[in-house]
Amino acid sequence: MADEVNPFESLQEQVDDAAAHFDVSDDLLARLKNPERVLETNLSVELDDGTLGVFRAYRSQFNGDRGPYKGGIRYHPGVNRDEVKALSGWMVYKCAVVDIPYGGGKGGIAIDPHRHSEEELERITRAFATELRPIIGEDKDIPAPDVNTGQREMNWIKDTYETLENTTEPGVVTGKAIDSGGSRGRVEATGRSTMLTAREAFDYLGKEMPGATVAVQGYGNAGSVAAKLLESELGANVVAVSDSSGAVYNPTGLDAEQVKEFKRETGSVTGYEDASEELTNEELLTLDVDLLVPAALENAIDADLASDVQANVIVEAANGPLTPDADDVLTDRDVFVFPDILANAGGVTVSYFEWVQNRQRFYWTESKVNEELERHIVEAFEGLVDCYEELDVPNFRTAAYVVAIQRVITAYEEAGTWP
Ligand code: NAD
Repeated sequence: MADEVNPFESLQEQVDDAAAHFDVSDDLLARLKNPERVLETNLSVELDDGTLGVFRAYRSQFNGDRGPYKGGIRYHPGVNRDEVKALSGWMVYKCAVVDIPYGGGKGGIAIDPHRHSEEELERITRAFATELRPIIGEDKDIPAPDVNTGQREMNWIKDTYETLENTTEPGVVTGKAIDSGGSRGRVEATGRSTMLTAREAFDYLGKEMPGATVAVQGYGNAGSVAAKLLESELGANVVAVSDSSGAVYNPTGLDAEQVKEFKRETGSVTGYEDASEELTNEELLTLDVDLLVPAALENAIDADLASDVQANVIVEAANGPLTPDADDVLTDRDVFVFPDILANAGGVTVSYFEWVQNRQRFYWTESKVNEELERHIVEAFEGLVDCYEELDVPNFRTAAYVVAIQRVITAYEEAGTWP
């Protein structure tokens, strides 16, 4: 892991790389590279033993030109101001690339949730929701789950907000449980867009998906669903998966569902009985496979590791898994990288559907959700390919940023500058 790479600097470099391919003033570019505002706050919460816990929490609202700020809330010890700023910027361009009417935001608490009881996590989440209350709302900023948060945390945030505001407003957060106003298909949406992007990518590159070998780094929500769908819907052969405990490998194939069940029971993928070998995460990332899916955290692949990657296609389920230097190495080596802002956009796209359903108080079937998601991802993929072929851009990431940034600029210019 290239921990020293600052993800906010990576985001800024990605925007600069794209901006080199069209006319944009330096002033406007500066606006596209920096958040509009960042909330940084201490949460003071009574712990189960009666002592006081103090936790640093953040919410970055990067850009609202195309609609309300939108983005997840992450609980992880590594959460910091620059990480949240980077993640919020990626959300702006992700929402623009799949053309949904949102800006971008992101939040997080610097905390290891595994060291806290459910009661403590509820108090910490409600304390954060109380701090967020003035700046969130279905027309202002709409949080969602991210690493180590899920339906439970979203339900607590919704309930805290609604109680304090004396209202019902399920669209204030997305990623809720179905009975609390969640959408069918939301839990699987991120992995589903990763699978759809991989399908379109293989088709575009003239590669066969059935039987193609796949390695997935990170076996949480995004990674495990992508693995399952690549296997069940496209006939791919998932040969290696990993989590923070290490990787398991079987060259003849793993059963994605069974590994997930094993992780659910034991807490990790390592020890899975049908694996022929255990590997390090680094070994997994450099396996000789047809498709590599990084689905853990930022900076998983740096330039050194990139020179050893053997896969010819990478589809990014995680946000920011490659450093900019790794991107350069992979572009030079003709490895095709299909970027996070398209491949994991399913999460925010179905969040958008959830928000639409909440506002209409009218709920869709899972097949309608999946159909609409497929339409958004396929259309976005086609837009990115058109840009890749028409402009002299080096890779699909730059193509995606060119498409996305131009949409944000158009919205900004149509609104005009005031005051
Ligand atoms: P998650 O908490 O469900 O899973 C993360 C997984 O990564 C866990 O299995 C963890 O053990 C593993 N992991 C952590 N560090 C690792 C390491 N060094 N090596 C290997 N594995 C490691 O989180 P998630 O929701 O699946 O998110 C994963 C990535 O996908 C993040 O980058 C997140 O921002 C992105 N993402 C998620 C969603 C979503 O809807 N869940 C949407 C868009 C993007």
